[in-house]
Amino acid sequence: MRLSELGEFRLIDAIRARTGTAAGVHRGIGDDAAELELPPGHRLLTSTDLLLEDVHFRLDWTSAFDLGRKAVAVNLSDIAAMGGAPRFLYVGLACSGATEVAQLEAFVDGVLTEAAEHGAVLVGGDTCRSPGPWIISVTIEGTAPAGKAVGRDGARPGDAVLVSGTLGDSALALALWQQGLTPEPWLAERHTRPVPRVALGRGLAEAGLATAMIDLSDGIASDLEHILQASGVGAEIRRAAVPLSPPFRARLERQPELFDLALGGGEDYELLCTVPAARVAEALAVGERCGVPLSAVGAITPAGTGLQLRDDAGTVRPLRVRGYDHFCR
Ligand code: ADP
Ligand code: MG
Repeated sequence: MRLSELGEFRLIDAIRARTGTAAGVHRGIGDDAAELELPPGHRLLTSTDLLLEDVHFRLDWTSAFDLGRKAVAVNLSDIAAMGGAPRFLYVGLACSGATEVAQLEAFVDGVLTEAAEHGAVLVGGDTCRSPGPWIISVTIEGTAPAGKAVGRDGARPGDAVLVSGTLGDSALALALWQQGLTPEPWLAERHTRPVPRVALGRGLAEAGLATAMIDLSDGIASDLEHILQASGVGAEIRRAAVPLSPPFRARLERQPELFDLALGGGEDYELLCTVPAARVAEALAVGERCGVPLSAVGAITPAGTGLQLRDDAGTVRPLRVRGYDHFCR
């Protein structure tokens, strides 16, 4: 069946029927607004992301289920980067009337699966017709105890720079698809099924370990720069310390220029945080407890020093790799 036969309101009813409830939800889908309650002493964290077909995703490279998951995962990643607990989710969706209802159901399945895995519940959204491409807008709300959320502005000279997981896998998978090649399943999933580092972000924030934190959506070169700007500091990254996966390393040996993907490729959805040097071991232990390894990749330097890369021979140069920017290519 096509969406034009089902209609907007039956689609919303179908979404509502599959949505659960959660603590704090007095009213979810079905009224003019959701009515929600925060745990006492907590603050609200809100983040929104827009995903456009053929800009952010291609329905021939990703399934509708994975798309639903990823649309939610990238928002969860923003809450993780603040050290918050995800709670309430809103999905705005525009697609053409010719869209198969089964494809929309798979998308909603993906949304609800990803949300449930991280304790978030769908409480609202909006649905309308698009003249062609899918447009997806996801808003997430999370909570953090007052004073515990971690911003981008707290990095201080001497802090260590830590990143979770491995970098560049998602960008490498995308580059292979763009060349008409097929990445192996593990690599492909690093692109299509990013895992938001929710427990890690909360663990680092609640223990007061992270002085600044950001999730890596545009590449470390660009995202670390945001922390440097907000905090008024510089940083030095050691090339040899950048964590790379075995499939990434294998290709890097044949094509050294691929290293740029690890620094500026984007869509890693790993966390980058700064931690006082004396507390690095504690932070690494939080990573182990959460099953997501953290790697120390460098250090925060004084204001005016910029973002520098130290290569294997010890030469230090300004890092020139650019992260993803929608308007400057
Ligand atoms: P309005 O006319 O006020 O926009 P709608 O008829 O669009 O209201 O929506 C009715 C209810 O369904 C609202 O509670 C809204 O949040 C919810 N809703 C609409 N679209 C979606 C969606 N794609 N996902 C989740 N909830 C939705
Ligand atoms: Mg509406």
